[in-house]
Amino acid sequence: MPQTSLTRPPLLVSACLLGQPVRYDGQAKAQPDATLAMLARHFELIPVCPESMGGLPTPRPPAEIVGGSGAQVLAGAAIVRDATGADVTAPFVAGARDALAIARQRQCGHALLKALSPSCGNHEHYDGSFGGVLRPGQGVAAAFLAEAGVRVWNESEIDALIRTAGVPGA
Ligand code: SF4
Repeated sequence: MPQTSLTRPPLLVSACLLGQPVRYDGQAKAQPDATLAMLARHFELIPVCPESMGGLPTPRPPAEIVGGSGAQVLAGAAIVRDATGADVTAPFVAGARDALAIARQRQCGHALLKALSPSCGNHEHYDGSFGGVLRPGQGVAAAFLAEAGVRVWNESEIDALIRTAGVPGA
């Protein structure tokens, strides 16, 4: 029997993964059409871009977490700095709060977020040196969502996400 939107669980998704040109460079990171179609069969897709929601423009300078990971930013023990040297911690935290508010409003138990982003990365992010060095840890929004109990996945984990939370047989 075909699934309807009423039966698909809600899934918070990084807007850039869905093709919205909201990244710092004004581009998207759209997943292949077949992947997006598969996701849409299994979930009600709810796009969010924490950096845009926090008030940052597009395009914008790239930013990295300095002195820790997302959890430390939320605890006031690390900051987010952009490539010009500006402290952009406040909009990153504001965007994380907005993303969680939408997750709660839409009752999202899972989120599919863009890997390696200082907002959305769920396992690693760049280390603040702007030298292309990764360190383990979550981005600011990913950490905020995870602390609130939302399970956060990235685009290389879509198959596991679908097996875990998708509509069976969709
Ligand atoms: S904040 Fe997240 S959704 Fe927005 S552009 Fe960066 S990775 Fe994509």
